[in-house]
Amino acid sequence: MEHTFDIIVVGGGLMGSSIAYHLAGEGFGGRIAVFEKDPTYEKASTALSVGGIRRQFSTEVNVRLSQYSLAFYQEFGERMETEGERPEIDFKPRGYLFLGSEKNWPILVRHQAFQKSLGVETQLLNVKETLQLIPDLNTEDLVGSSFSAGDGYMDPHSVLQGFVRKAKYLGVEYIHQEVVEVLRKGDRLEGVKTKDGTTYFSSSIVNAAGPYAGEVGKMAGIDIPVVPVRRMVYLIKPPRLFDYDLPLVIDTSGVYFLHETGKQILTGKSRKEEPPGFNYVWDRNYFQEAIWPSLAHRIPLFDELKVVSGWTGLYEVNQWDSNGIIGEHPEVRGFYMAVGFSGHGFQQAPAVGKALSEWIRFMRYETVDVSPLGYERILEGRKVLEEEVI
Ligand SMILES: Cc1cc2nc3c(=O)[nH]c(=O)nc-3n(C[C@H](O)[C@H](O)[C@H](O)COP(=O)(O)OP(=O)(O)OC[C@H]3O[C@@H](n4cnc5c(N)ncnc54)[C@H](O)[C@@H]3O)c2cc1C
Repeated sequence: MEHTFDIIVVGGGLMGSSIAYHLAGEGFGGRIAVFEKDPTYEKASTALSVGGIRRQFSTEVNVRLSQYSLAFYQEFGERMETEGERPEIDFKPRGYLFLGSEKNWPILVRHQAFQKSLGVETQLLNVKETLQLIPDLNTEDLVGSSFSAGDGYMDPHSVLQGFVRKAKYLGVEYIHQEVVEVLRKGDRLEGVKTKDGTTYFSSSIVNAAGPYAGEVGKMAGIDIPVVPVRRMVYLIKPPRLFDYDLPLVIDTSGVYFLHETGKQILTGKSRKEEPPGFNYVWDRNYFQEAIWPSLAHRIPLFDELKVVSGWTGLYEVNQWDSNGIIGEHPEVRGFYMAVGFSGHGFQQAPAVGKALSEWIRFMRYETVDVSPLGYERILEGRKVLEEEVI
């Protein structure tokens, strides 16, 4: 019985840990194992993320996921308290600011109306109001901006540690082994085998392997269109530090920037032509070629700056439609997925954990209906068309 579990979660990053935490904390009652091959999380997407949360999406399911998660992060310390200790996640609710030019303004206007209809207080700001938020902005080619106050960014590593600690406290067992095989007979799951040759038994398995989700799918004979794609982040220091706080800004060029500790600035931009692969090489030239010109145009002060450091992480990109795949496989019952978040998984993890925990316990979604993001859509040829993937 030692190696028999009621549910096995493959991947102990933010998704896997949120699912385990929600199950254990909400009355699942059975034995839960989370398999994590690297307890330092050195290369986990969660630890390498920039930790932003926004409700500015164009599809209802993504807005609803962020609404739940935002409320969750606002109460993170209380929820994750263990033996009187509360984790500090350094949440900075400074808002998300999408800058608008002639070209994308109609899209921002349409999205703002949609978000408002779902209860998100996104505001359209004119140029003067935008300048009040960021006085250093060059607005010559801007029409205005779309601002969601209350959204913001936080320290992803502390969030992950908070979830892991609380999940363990609630009885979840973390096994630091790499899963190399999923044992399946016909449409029935039997367990997993780890790299050291041990077999662990369960008829319920959750794939929460982040950039490795496609690999874990293959182990179960299930085709999951999720691939790892390199994303680079740069820490820069301008010649003068702003004496105000930056929201997380999305420029019209696709470059994003936000404040890091000590008023330094984090920035990046998704490279469209980046090929899939487990590539962690950090390329300083990409900053010079693709990011710096846009930054210097938007904030002239950035014409002179110092690149302090940076890092590379992997997006787990869903090649089908760039949105998460959440739920149970319609044929291989007991095979659950929380994969493919394509750059918005950090903000969705609390809600995804809640939703999947409801499905596993009751076979229905009560808090956020994530059925539009089910694997069924791939089998049936349907796409979720989200226009705000960054
Ligand atoms: C540079 C960057 C910036 C980002 N910024 C944001 C942002 O601002 N906002 C946002 O919402 N999202 C952001 N994201 C995306 C977000 O980080 C991810 O969507 C999210 O962290 C995915 O969590 P996860 O638990 O699925 O994956 P991970 O954190 O990668 O966790 C998966 C875990 O599974 C383990 N694992 C894999 N295979 C196995 C196996 N076979 N056996 C055992 N263990 C295994 C891995 O070791 C890993 O720890 C960003 C990502 C990057 C790279």
